[in-house]
Amino acid sequence: MQISLKRSKAVVARIFLSVLLIATCLVGFALAADKYDVVYQISSLAGLEHGVFFPTTTVGELKKHGDFGVGAFEHMDGELILINGKAYNGMYDGSVVLMDDKAPITYGAVSFFKASKTTTLNNINSYEEMMKSIDALLPNINNFYAFKINAKFSYVKYRSTDKQDQPYPPLSQVIATQSIFEVKDVKGTFVGVRLPHFIKNVYAPGYHLHFITDDKKQGGHILEVKFDEAKVQIQYLSQMLIKMPTNEGAKKIDLAVPYQKK
Ligand SMILES: [Zn+2]
Repeated sequence: MQISLKRSKAVVARIFLSVLLIATCLVGFALAADKYDVVYQISSLAGLEHGVFFPTTTVGELKKHGDFGVGAFEHMDGELILINGKAYNGMYDGSVVLMDDKAPITYGAVSFFKASKTTTLNNINSYEEMMKSIDALLPNINNFYAFKINAKFSYVKYRSTDKQDQPYPPLSQVIATQSIFEVKDVKGTFVGVRLPHFIKNVYAPGYHLHFITDDKKQGGHILEVKFDEAKVQIQYLSQMLIKMPTNEGAKKIDLAVPYQKK
C-alpha cells in the first residue's frame, strides 16, 4: 500500500513536470513569435525638436531589440543604418563607418526583421512616387512597418547631419547644416520604417529610410530616389516599445511644451 502511494505520487510529480515543461516551451514560442511584431523606438521626435541629442542607449543594447532599423547617434553625429545586426554610421562626409557596441544612440526605430510580404516595384522616378506605391501595398495605414528595399538605384540623394555641441540646437537648425550627396547607378539597400501619423510627437510620421551601398562605403538619410526595379520586403508590426532617455540633460526639458523658436 505504502509503495503504491509512493509510486502514484511519483507519477503525479512526473505529469506535473511534463505539463510545466510544455507550458514553458509554449510561452517561449509565443515570445519568440512576438519579437517579430515589435518596433522598438528610441527617444522621441518631440525630444529631437527640442535638441535632446543625449545618449538614450548603445548599439549593444539596441541589438537586444532588433537587427534592423534607422536612427541617429549621440550629438546627431551621423545616421544610423542597422542591417543584418551590424550598426553603420552614415557620416557627415557621406562615407560609412562600422560602429562598435559601445557607440551611443540618441534616437531611432528598430525591429528584428522578417518579411511579411515580398514584392517588386518598377519604374520609380521620385521618393514621393515610391512612398505612394508602397502605401498601396500595406494592409492598413495605421500600423507600423519596416522595409528592406534592394536595387541597382539609378539615382539616390541622401544626407547626413553633423556632430552638435552642447547646449544642443533644435533639430531644424541641425537639418539646415546637413550635407547632401548624390550617387548614380549604385547597388544598395534602403533600410527603414513607416510609422503612422497619429504618433507624430513620438516619431517622425511617414517613411524614414536610410541608404547603404552594397560595398558599405556610402550611405545616409534618403531624400530622393529613382530606380527601374527593386525588391521590396515589408514587415508588418503591430506593437511598439519606447525607450526614453534618462540622463540629466534630457530630464530638464518638458516635452509637453512644443518647441518654440527663442
Ligand atoms: Zn534619418
